[in-house]
Amino acid sequence: MKSSTDPDPSYEPREGSRELTHRDADWSSLRILVTGLGVSGFAAADALSERGAIVTAVSADATPAIVERARILEILDVDVRLGPEHLLTVPASTELVVTSPGFRPDHPLLLAAAARGIPVWGEVELAWRMRARSGAAPWITITGTNGKTTTVKMLACILRAAGLRATSAGNVGTPLLEAVLHPDPYDVLAVELSSFQLHWERSVAPFASVCLNVAPDHVDWHGSMDEYGLAKAKVYAGTQVACVYNVQDPATEQMVMDADVVEGCRAIGFTLGLPGPSMVGLVDDVLADRAFVEQRRTSAAELATLADLQGDGPSVAPHNVANALAAAALARAYGVGPLSVRDGLRAFVPDPHRIADVATVDGVRFIDDSKATNPHAAGASLAAFEHVVWIAGGLLKGADVDSLVQSMAERLRGVVLIGADREQIARALQRHAPDVPVVDVPDTETGVMDLVVARAGALAQPGDVVLLAPAAASMDMFSNYGARGDAFAEAVRRYASQDEGPTAP
Ligand code: ADP
Repeated sequence: MKSSTDPDPSYEPREGSRELTHRDADWSSLRILVTGLGVSGFAAADALSERGAIVTAVSADATPAIVERARILEILDVDVRLGPEHLLTVPASTELVVTSPGFRPDHPLLLAAAARGIPVWGEVELAWRMRARSGAAPWITITGTNGKTTTVKMLACILRAAGLRATSAGNVGTPLLEAVLHPDPYDVLAVELSSFQLHWERSVAPFASVCLNVAPDHVDWHGSMDEYGLAKAKVYAGTQVACVYNVQDPATEQMVMDADVVEGCRAIGFTLGLPGPSMVGLVDDVLADRAFVEQRRTSAAELATLADLQGDGPSVAPHNVANALAAAALARAYGVGPLSVRDGLRAFVPDPHRIADVATVDGVRFIDDSKATNPHAAGASLAAFEHVVWIAGGLLKGADVDSLVQSMAERLRGVVLIGADREQIARALQRHAPDVPVVDVPDTETGVMDLVVARAGALAQPGDVVLLAPAAASMDMFSNYGARGDAFAEAVRRYASQDEGPTAP
């Protein structure tokens, strides 16, 4: 780790000025272009115009929600321009562009801004610079290909169990700007950052930070896997107290070694194995801390047991133990005591569609992990069970499924394939699991889930799991992963009620 705090002058909209670092700075009459009018674009335009900036907001789409936001912004004197024709040129005399994650870095508007030397900030950079001048809530930042939402929510639960006023914000739930400007200030924020958000971020100096894991995803947005990795690595930049990394994912440790951090910042590992010094890990069924205890060479503190993580399900998936360890390490770095870690993890309730038990029918568990939208996530999910009937397919976004299928072949009792890219998965199965029965469901109607569930149920044996972990995005058949999971869960319930048969009169 290197230590440095040099600001990047090309990131400052006012020549020679380094002062736009808090909400009471002089934002007035700064000419700002906000691109995108989603929730975060709206929050940015609103906050900036309130501080006297001259704001133009552009959006290609004019959905009812965007038109409604536009109407409110116009009352606040924002110049709103809807329609694709407004996304071609940067208005004259623009001094700063604030962009939304929906805009790829190679969008013509952003390239045009860069060519004219106009700084481009993302919503995260803006939120960081809209914090209070003094006493602002520290940020604890979380990124990774998978597990961000789970970990950030576990962390928020732990912080609250310690009596702190804390919330999760960023790429989850509350927009960061809203959390930062909340009239009743938070003590500390658990911040989820996507690679899209990190791409534009420069000045954030988190209290503690983690990159949970890195695997190919969103390479289309970033342009290459290298760029994606570089964006993820930015989560560690400027960290003050602890950079937490995944011992089982050496790329994350390398990111920490390469990071520019505040002097004295520590590297803390989390592992599903036995923890070494400066790590948190598992000792039998105990989540153990060998990083934030006095005698870490010789002793460990018990933080929680696996039983504390059970939630509603009968067992906890290893990837969620890893997420809990990461959340615990971040909380411990913030000074939270072991008992609050335990209480927070006990209080944690997973978001829907993340390895959620739907029903058990004839000894077969049906599990909805519709949020497994890339092969890395599906791999973690499959690895949690011994015998699985796997429901897979959808939009692979260019991802390769070969090594996933190869490493999971042993566990597969059968596979039901759905969605646009099922052919690619079928080919991988032929190569690496030729004896596993595969049912191909070409129908892409949403109602097809009844057939999918029935075919999966027929392949399963008592004690098996039927797992919806598609390794792919859902938009070819459903509006989002939530709708896909709901369709699955409803079909499972219908399947379960048929199984009970007609009740005797
Ligand atoms: P994100 O916010 O990064 O998408 P979530 O917590 O919503 O992460 O989990 C998304 C999916 O990723 C889960 O449904 C699960 O399949 C998988 N997953 C969760 N945590 C991990 C992890 N630590 N490693 C690998 N896969 C994970």
